[in-house]
Amino acid sequence: TAPVIAIDGPSASGKGTVAARVATTLGYHMLDSGALYRLTALAARKAGVAWEDEAAVAAIAAALPAEFEGERILLSGEEVSEAIRSEEMGDGASKVAALPAVRAALLARQRAYRRWPGLVADGRDMGSVVFPWAECKVFLTASAEARAERRHKQLIAKGVPAKITPLLQDLRERDARDTARSVAPLQKCAEAELLDTSNLSIEQAVAAVLGCARE
Ligand code: C5P
Repeated sequence: TAPVIAIDGPSASGKGTVAARVATTLGYHMLDSGALYRLTALAARKAGVAWEDEAAVAAIAAALPAEFEGERILLSGEEVSEAIRSEEMGDGASKVAALPAVRAALLARQRAYRRWPGLVADGRDMGSVVFPWAECKVFLTASAEARAERRHKQLIAKGVPAKITPLLQDLRERDARDTARSVAPLQKCAEAELLDTSNLSIEQAVAAVLGCARE
């Protein structure tokens, strides 16, 4: 079976960027599991289904008409790569992700990404629930302040007006919800290597993950 590198951690820790670079370096496939929760939130919104309606959202997740074409993410054939990255869909993702039936509906789909020559999986529960047998598990984190600053820089670079204080507050709320939920809460599993990137460059973080993958 193909090897899996599981990278978990809080929002804006840089894990998406690091995971994508590691996947490119090794020629591995990439699973952005957060995108599946964001797509579920967006599809529910489009269908007029409330994010709290567990059965209806789970049905949407089970039949999610999503496609990944390189950088492009499509929902029912429509490009939504930008739309799912909004703060609102991040919030919706974290709400639908707290529903056990929604997580169960996305499980098989996530596991199907494990293919030769290997997979880099990015999320909250990659090492604990989806790929518990992964040979390399990393918990990538950074201080809330460092994460809010990174998110702020990204938004400003995209020309989106943003302020650090509300971003920091959003991050803390999302972390609290992701950590407190009863299913697959955000936490480092015992065997995962802790990587605090507050004072690391992307290159240094990538090198650390590659080091773990080679062990
Ligand atoms: O990683 P990203 O910010 O795109 O994830 C959006 C939300 O989806 C997270 O705040 C989290 O609640 C949820 N999520 C999850 N499990 C994953 C990936 C994301 O619960 N494996």
